[in-house]
Amino acid sequence: MNKGEIFFTFLCILNYMVQNINIQYNINLGTIRCEYMSNNFIDYFKKVPLHESEVVVVGGGPAGIAAAIASARNGAQTLLIERYGFVGGMATAGLVGPFMTSYSLDGSEQIIKGIFDELVTRMEKAGGAIHPSKVRAGTPYSAFLVYGHDHVTPFDAEILKIVAFDMLKEAGVKLLLHTYFIDTITENNTIKYIVFANKSGLQSIHPKIVIDCTGDADVAFSAGVPCRKGRDSDGLMQPVSMFFRIRNVDTKKLSEYIAAHPGERPFSRIVEEAKKKGDFPIARDAVLLFQTPKEGEALVNVSRIHNINGTDPYDLTKAEIEGRKQVMILIDFFRKYVPGLENVELVQIAPQIGIRETRHIVGEYTMTEEDVLYSKEFHDVIGLNSFPIDIHSLTGVFGRFEGPKNNKYYEIPYRILLPVNINNLLVAGRCVSATHEAAGSLRVMPPCFVTGQAAGTAAALSVKNNILPKKLDHKELQKTLISQDVVLPKRIIERL
Ligand SMILES: Cc1cc2nc3c(=O)[nH]c(=O)nc-3n(C[C@H](O)[C@H](O)[C@H](O)COP(=O)(O)OP(=O)(O)OC[C@H]3O[C@@H](n4cnc5c(N)ncnc54)[C@H](O)[C@@H]3O)c2cc1C
Repeated sequence: MNKGEIFFTFLCILNYMVQNINIQYNINLGTIRCEYMSNNFIDYFKKVPLHESEVVVVGGGPAGIAAAIASARNGAQTLLIERYGFVGGMATAGLVGPFMTSYSLDGSEQIIKGIFDELVTRMEKAGGAIHPSKVRAGTPYSAFLVYGHDHVTPFDAEILKIVAFDMLKEAGVKLLLHTYFIDTITENNTIKYIVFANKSGLQSIHPKIVIDCTGDADVAFSAGVPCRKGRDSDGLMQPVSMFFRIRNVDTKKLSEYIAAHPGERPFSRIVEEAKKKGDFPIARDAVLLFQTPKEGEALVNVSRIHNINGTDPYDLTKAEIEGRKQVMILIDFFRKYVPGLENVELVQIAPQIGIRETRHIVGEYTMTEEDVLYSKEFHDVIGLNSFPIDIHSLTGVFGRFEGPKNNKYYEIPYRILLPVNINNLLVAGRCVSATHEAAGSLRVMPPCFVTGQAAGTAAALSVKNNILPKKLDHKELQKTLISQDVVLPKRIIERL
């Protein structure tokens, strides 16, 4: 094919976001389910400009920021494509926070460093974060929760956007914002071109390696990588939530209430009372308010909407509307019922609904809950994580929160970044190859930075060695990661 004149066909390109055929491969059941299908189609042909880049990272959330920085720092010409006018993903567009723990479950050692720690340290210097070493469980920063919540990182989303831009620029990443990934053209199990859209119209890139950090595995799915969605038994995914930020929080009063009600989920008694009076029509049992670095300000993680498919635009539309309604209900509830929240004001509702789970790719290895709970050792470990399996109830109120039995951490293998059937694609972040249960732990932001940094480093080493990521020597990857401040198990460090 003439590089300057790519002709390609794709179904309903103009209606892609609202009318694409979205096929789910349910591996365990062996079924193929069409989630949404329109009866009307057009064929669409167009000649579009072609660009080149060694590594293309799609999606600038926690995984994408780390992947792009790692790829560029390790010598690859790197392009990062992001649909919004800022980076951060759920941390900024979803207003989600704090960064969950980067320490072992017992709080004794920091197990996630690398680009994550560098970013946090720079954000702290800019007045937009508190380093996790200074933040303990059972405090307003951890919503008064204890288990699994030691050493979280409170941060300011606006400072994150600015510091991440600085780090991407310093690393030499070429950043393309306001740009939406649309499609892939594959040949012989390789992504030959990716197609994206922005104000200049449709564009294409011929990449050596692509890293999918879209959270939803958009690139992998479009390239034909099999994906699971939600729980294997019925496909149900975690509920979605609308985050928002409030001010005029009387932290002293809140803390006194918590101290007077030991052993209770935060404010659950008050929630129960409000439910009886019809003032809390939300399927939650507690109020989780995470204090930000600013005194008197908190992020609210209470809204909940079930049965939303985060890759279906109609479901997303419904969730955006319902999520905002819930915010107003919660503000009224806070003022009326919760001691310390009588005078709260709404500062900001997240620009987009928070999506906890959609597609997980099927990779060379699939992480399971046993791997998390029993800390399985992997020869190709690329990082550690300790955050418990956190599954919000898929249909009701009470969920699951269960961490590694050794009370320390578990290992993340390189193979969960490698799709089974596409050779020049790596996947990082919440859509890595994991079951619904294991993804309930891997989905939080610090491990997304871990898989992002590993994917970016692997991509750059693969380009340098002129090999495919699957052929990369995992020892070379581990050595490079260790030299760039990534924490790996002692046995690996001793063997290298
Ligand atoms: C309600 C909620 C509460 C949570 N609470 C916490 C918490 O307290 N602490 C914590 O650590 N984690 C929390 N998480 C989990 C965490 O925020 C996410 O799982 C994590 O951000 C995933 O990182 P990611 O980089 O894989 O994806 P995302 O953060 O989703 O980033 C994906 C990026 O890709 C971009 N993108 C997507 N599709 C395209 C496309 N087609 N073209 C171009 N760009 C695209 C998006 O705009 C986004 O910037 C929470 C999640 C939710 C939803």
